[in-house]
Amino acid sequence: MGRVLIIGAGGVGSVVAHKCAMEPKVFEHVTLASRTLSRCEKIRDEVQQMHKRKIDVAQVDADNVPETVALIRRVKPDLVINVALPYQDLTIMDACLEAGVNYMDTANYEPRDVAKYEYKWQWAYKERFEKAGLMALLGAGFDPGVTNVFCAYAQKHLFDEVHTVDIVDCNAGSHGKAFATNFNPEINIREVTQNGRYWENGKWIDTKPMEIAQTFDFPGVGDRKAYLIYHEELESLVLNIKGLKRIRFWMTFGDEYLTHLRVLQNIGMTRIDPVDYKGTKIIPIEFLKRLLPDPASLAEGYTGKTSIGCIFEGKKDGKTKKAFVYNICDHAETYKEVRSQAVSYTTGVPAMVAAMMMLRGEWKKAGVIHVEQMNPDPFLEELGKRGLPWHVKDL
Ligand code: NDP
Repeated sequence: MGRVLIIGAGGVGSVVAHKCAMEPKVFEHVTLASRTLSRCEKIRDEVQQMHKRKIDVAQVDADNVPETVALIRRVKPDLVINVALPYQDLTIMDACLEAGVNYMDTANYEPRDVAKYEYKWQWAYKERFEKAGLMALLGAGFDPGVTNVFCAYAQKHLFDEVHTVDIVDCNAGSHGKAFATNFNPEINIREVTQNGRYWENGKWIDTKPMEIAQTFDFPGVGDRKAYLIYHEELESLVLNIKGLKRIRFWMTFGDEYLTHLRVLQNIGMTRIDPVDYKGTKIIPIEFLKRLLPDPASLAEGYTGKTSIGCIFEGKKDGKTKKAFVYNICDHAETYKEVRSQAVSYTTGVPAMVAAMMMLRGEWKKAGVIHVEQMNPDPFLEELGKRGLPWHVKDL
């Protein structure tokens, strides 16, 4: 049916490569490219060994637009799946426009020198993608991604009016390390150390980092304390879910993780501004990333589950209603299937399913598009079959 070029061979890129390779009817040709070729080769060999499928690999610096355009022209994909880092979003979008190819990612663009978690830079590409008749699908991982699709599903099938949404994200797994992040450390630490923020009655309300906490009963996991943090999907959901009165995002963190994070912050290791060290400028958080475990390396021996979903309140047939739509994913199971931990898996599988929607033409719209703007039904049908079954519970 089509050809894809995956850019980024980290924890998430590995899952996308495995899962695309496992669907040969849809993804007839798969190329995995990244900055470090050896990482692509390792994944290629694993895919060959586990799924008996040959994928191509290539080296690319996706910060470099001409180099990326040349690769796209050589590979001739129908779609570029960007699972490198948020810093590369705009250069890869530029390359897609120049080469005339559809684009997809799982995280909003971030400037290197300031943590923002805003879509404005990517929204600025809307007219260019519309004019070119190309689709740029933003945020097609789990959160953002599946959580946005759950919102579209709730709006379409469960409620007449959705009033409040609480997106709740729990990783109750154990990787056995004193401190590690489950996806790229730089992006993860920037995300959780920024101020909290939620939206209520048309206004954004700022909080201090981790100022608000609440205990939720996570399906498959039980009671866990979660902290209110700002997360990028809130920005598009307040525009696309009509009649919304409040939306918040909650994430669980263990005490051990928070203690390490506090120390790292207090001693300046999470700073994103350059500091002079023996005549060389270094960015502390980039140096810290060098020292921390690679997220992909956590997979072997990881136990426990992730439980992520949306709690909705609203009206149906004139009555107040509350429902929880969620997925539970097991680290050990995902390791068995694709040699990855569940955080990478829950991001990579939706990215593959969204790519499938785009190649099949079921999700087709020119411009810069968020997943909640597309029909949730075919996506959710495939998501369940491809490894992430989801459930609806009336509360
Ligand atoms: P990793 O750090 O494990 O992998 C990132 C990969 O991108 C590495 O292979 C890296 O190469 C490559 N890369 C970095 N810079 C460049 C460049 N200039 N050119 C080409 N390749 C480059 O990250 P993850 O796999 O954990 O995360 C990938 C993305 O997924 C991130 O954007 C993250 O924010 C997003 N994500 C989204 C989630 C969601 O639910 N929506 C959840 C989790 C993650 P190298 O090996 O050389 O460093």
